[in-house]
Amino acid sequence: MNIINGKKIQEEKLEFFSKQIQEINEKLKLAVIQVGNNESSNIYINNKRKLCDKVGILFEHIKYDLVEEKELITKIEELNNDRTVTGILVQLPLPKEIDEKKVIDSINPQKDVDGLTTSNIGKLFSGDKGIVPCTALGILNILKSLNINLEGANIVIVGRSRLVGLPLVGLLLRQNATVTVCHSKTKDLKEKTKQADILIVATGKKDLIAVDFVKENAVVIDVGINRVEGKIYGDCDFEALKDKCKAITPVPGGVGPLTVTMLINNIIEAYYLQKNN
Ligand code: NDP
Repeated sequence: MNIINGKKIQEEKLEFFSKQIQEINEKLKLAVIQVGNNESSNIYINNKRKLCDKVGILFEHIKYDLVEEKELITKIEELNNDRTVTGILVQLPLPKEIDEKKVIDSINPQKDVDGLTTSNIGKLFSGDKGIVPCTALGILNILKSLNINLEGANIVIVGRSRLVGLPLVGLLLRQNATVTVCHSKTKDLKEKTKQADILIVATGKKDLIAVDFVKENAVVIDVGINRVEGKIYGDCDFEALKDKCKAITPVPGGVGPLTVTMLINNIIEAYYLQKNN
């Protein structure tokens, strides 16, 4: 079967994480901060809460309708100093008036379970131990589950955000892959993507990757989430590609389940980083 079942990999991973959590003699807790009432954010936070409940991690939801940047940072500092809080996550996007980077960087890197602080991004590229963003980690887990040899593989990533594309570069270089990164200014995208043994697409542009952008028997990881008239689509032409690829992730049901699952991985990581500090 060449359609990758993200839900199945999720179940396997959760079983493993649940055992790890049972071995820890303390209650782990995730604090999620939300500003505003973004509909997608509400769904994502709810999914995170459900998963935490499932594996026995406490969940604190701190929700502001409106908040000043200074007050938000003060709250994060309070959570940084609270020994009962294992992980802190600021649900993005924040309102435009708030400096997202400044807020994220006020999180103690050892509690930064999204792996988005400058400190954790730096650690990823310098080879130090830190916390890696969930989607990038989820994609690595998908590739590992396929038993693909990443060493020397030609991997093309379309998208270079701090959330997805950028951390993937660091993570895949660590696996000795040959990594090419494309973005909105890339010239002749098709020529680049056709070289890929593994193509990872994270742009949020529906139908960006047509069937002729992909080489026969490539592996395609579609990260994109595009909502059109109540339906969710990826960035790739899934219907046309599924018969051409060695393996492909569907949207939904591919990368998404792994992203939220890796949050549990990162809460466990955060616990041990703080314990061994
Ligand atoms: P961003 O908007 O932050 O980044 C998009 C990236 O795509 C940028 O690097 C941009 O280039 C590039 N891009 C945009 N248009 C093109 C184009 N025409 N050709 C080539 N590159 C292009 O988005 P995110 O990285 O946060 O998210 C990307 C998608 O992945 C979204 O749909 C998001 O919803 C989804 N997502 C899914 C997750 C999951 O678990 N499944 C988790 C996280 C995100 P440039 O840098 O030049 O602007």
